[in-house]
Amino acid sequence: MSQPTAAPPSAAPRVNPLQRIWLREIGMERLWLRPAPAVNRPAAEPQVLVSKEVLPPSVQTPAAEAPAPRSPQVGTPTAQAQAPDASAPAEAVPGRPGIPASILNRSGPPPRPVPKVEAEAPPPPPVPVAEAIRNATLEEMHDQVLACEACGLCKGRRNAVFGHGGQPTRWLVVGEAPGEQEDRQGQPFVGRSGQLLDAMLSSVSMSRERDVFITNVIKCRPPGNRNPKPEEIAACSPYLMRQIALLKPERILVLGRFAAQTLLGTDATIGSLRGRIHQLKTDEGLEIPVVVSYHPAYLLRSPSEKARAWQDLRLAVARLG
Ligand code: URA
Repeated sequence: MSQPTAAPPSAAPRVNPLQRIWLREIGMERLWLRPAPAVNRPAAEPQVLVSKEVLPPSVQTPAAEAPAPRSPQVGTPTAQAQAPDASAPAEAVPGRPGIPASILNRSGPPPRPVPKVEAEAPPPPPVPVAEAIRNATLEEMHDQVLACEACGLCKGRRNAVFGHGGQPTRWLVVGEAPGEQEDRQGQPFVGRSGQLLDAMLSSVSMSRERDVFITNVIKCRPPGNRNPKPEEIAACSPYLMRQIALLKPERILVLGRFAAQTLLGTDATIGSLRGRIHQLKTDEGLEIPVVVSYHPAYLLRSPSEKARAWQDLRLAVARLG
């Protein structure tokens, strides 16, 4: 079959009907017969980097008959040949080995270095309570207790209970830990035990608002009112020691086994600790008289012991000689 006849670059090549059928059969009819644009392209226009060897033979044309270069069209062999092949290795720049031409020839500012993502530093270890409150005022420590996470009890609390009372403080009353009502209200001894405590205090002319500061060894409620664990007492008791140092109470009334054992550093029973005056020596050099008695919750369960609790209160109000 004869080749299509050459035509001036701006005109569509002339073909005979047989050639047209053949061109249509190989999908080249429209490409071949479309006249080239009559625009004169500038000499510097980039050349189409397609050698005839890489095109299928059906696309190869005699040099003299090659259609003028066209804008690449999606789907045409030229467009496909011009499109950068992401899988092909980038062409290196002569004299700049290893630097792909695509980087050196690009316009605009050089690519920014990708910032290194630093591995996140682990959080600092928590400051122990005793250290965190070493110089705290009562107000500062109040806020620290409310935000405290020194033991697992913080996870189940509604409110931490710092304590409440007047200053100067005649008596510091120390209980065990907040119960349900205290956890709800954030105040110490506000449930049934608290009502009995108020009655006991008023029986010796002491008032919650005026004379005493009431707090607990543990500032957060243990789940189900279970006994505090040794590690919870260890984590929390620095708050109590700092409260004592700041309030400087004339006397401390300790209610129940946990409070007595914690403050006096003993594992003796209440029965053996009550009925006498103990002395608490603080790190600040204070010596504070301590009276031990039954916990009001115990007295609610064992009303017959109220008589002994009354004796303890009498001992606490007595002038110490
Ligand atoms: N029992 C305690 O020991 N403390 C409270 O605050 C309430 C109940």
